[in-house]
Amino acid sequence: MMMNRPVRVRFAPSPTGPLHIGGVRTALYNYLFARKHGGKMILRIEDTDSQRFVPGAEEYILESLKWCGIEIDEGVGVGGPHAPYRQSERRDLYLKYALQLVEAGWAYYAFDSAESLDARRKEAEEAGRAFAYNHEVREELETSLRLSKEEVEERIARGDQYVIRFKMPVDEIVKMDDLIRGHVEVNTSTLDDKVLYKSADQLPTYHLANIVDDHLMEISHVIRGEEWLPSLPLHYLLYRAFGWQDLQPEFAHLPLLLKPTGGGKLSKRDGDKMGFPVFPLFWTSPTTGETARGYREDGYFPEAFINMLALLGWNPGTEQEIFSMQELVEGFSLDRVSKSGARFQPDKAKWFNAQYMHHKSNEELAAIYQPILREHGIEVSDELAGKAAGIMKERAQLVTDLWDLTSFFFVAPTTYEEKQAKKYWKGENPRILKEVRDVLASIDDFSLEHTEEVVHAWIQEKGYGMGQVMNTLRLALVGAGKGPGMYDVTAFIGKEECLKRIDNLFENLTPAE
Ligand code: GLU
Repeated sequence: MMMNRPVRVRFAPSPTGPLHIGGVRTALYNYLFARKHGGKMILRIEDTDSQRFVPGAEEYILESLKWCGIEIDEGVGVGGPHAPYRQSERRDLYLKYALQLVEAGWAYYAFDSAESLDARRKEAEEAGRAFAYNHEVREELETSLRLSKEEVEERIARGDQYVIRFKMPVDEIVKMDDLIRGHVEVNTSTLDDKVLYKSADQLPTYHLANIVDDHLMEISHVIRGEEWLPSLPLHYLLYRAFGWQDLQPEFAHLPLLLKPTGGGKLSKRDGDKMGFPVFPLFWTSPTTGETARGYREDGYFPEAFINMLALLGWNPGTEQEIFSMQELVEGFSLDRVSKSGARFQPDKAKWFNAQYMHHKSNEELAAIYQPILREHGIEVSDELAGKAAGIMKERAQLVTDLWDLTSFFFVAPTTYEEKQAKKYWKGENPRILKEVRDVLASIDDFSLEHTEEVVHAWIQEKGYGMGQVMNTLRLALVGAGKGPGMYDVTAFIGKEECLKRIDNLFENLTPAE
């Protein structure tokens, strides 16, 4: 790829709700590309569609990027030489560009009322067609293509609402190059005349604001979702209309994230149905109060989440699956982004998280686990928190699994799993457990190894069944048939607590005959 200008990429979300994981992946690929080429990553908030603006969405986007470790070099929240980076704060600058296009014959005023356009739409529908505002009809409509200059000026002066539309050329082939899709051609006659600017709110539409800002912000590469590919011919033509072709960015359209079942774009509904989040963070809608799950709150590590997303659409060309952000930066290239959609696999997301979980040191686990312990009212040293999580980490996939897997280290059971109790709290087991209690009470060095040695020797001497004894002891100490090796538990909770839990079992549960 030719790199004859400084790499400057942008992530340009619209604050219309929580950021979908597809959007996070777009941000990630931009970030990896920028870092790989020593370029800049810009965050621009495209909030010119006041109808779709959702309060809190921008904050959500910023927090999501931060959680993911996607750093912004310039943009909203950071500043930079092209500030402001929020389009609503740049509103005054766009009209000039729209007028420049009108002046040059690339755009025109349109005064059609919503009612007259609705009527047209209806008429077309009745005739079995779809209405398109295009070269076939524009001469008949209320536009500056038909009205005299004076009429147009008069209508604007008296405050008539108008839009400025792009005048799509007729029957011309637009030849485009996409870094992922290759060469694409489209005949302009298939395209309609998009609105660029609206007088009603004095705001540009996405197309105008996006092109003007990409140009002013000296963007070198536009990396965005496939849903914007249909807009590419218009964007090419806008660069031409402004005379900015020489500095036109290169384009790369990323494949869609597909449903786990294949066909169609991954949606929140799929997540709800199959029990996985499609957003990075938990979200509460400020208008409806509706909530959506997030990867962070569901117990995923940001590194695992990013690793998983990176591989949804990009492949490193090797078997390697675990990548740190730095390794992703080094390995990333747009050549290895696939053209076809990437199917999202919720189990694979969990698998990635488990890999990261298994590699965490006790210190790291302590930092993650302490807040959860505190939520449960448990105050322990970092050492114990890390140790408990460390003993069980191989069985954990998510951070949220840790409490269920390790709570017995910190809280004595008061209830007992029925199945386990039925099976072991009967016959001669209560009597044997009393004996085990005496053996434990006699041990001074309560280390894992020593306790194991003494108890095992005693079991053998007595000729008791190992499983029988251990499972009864487990019932007393854990309250269920789960948990790590028994001596991990005895060593962790210590002698006094062991004896107490054995006594508790006798007090809490009457053995069956
Ligand atoms: N504001 C657009 C979005 O929400 C940006 C598309 C683009 O990157 O050009 O996705």
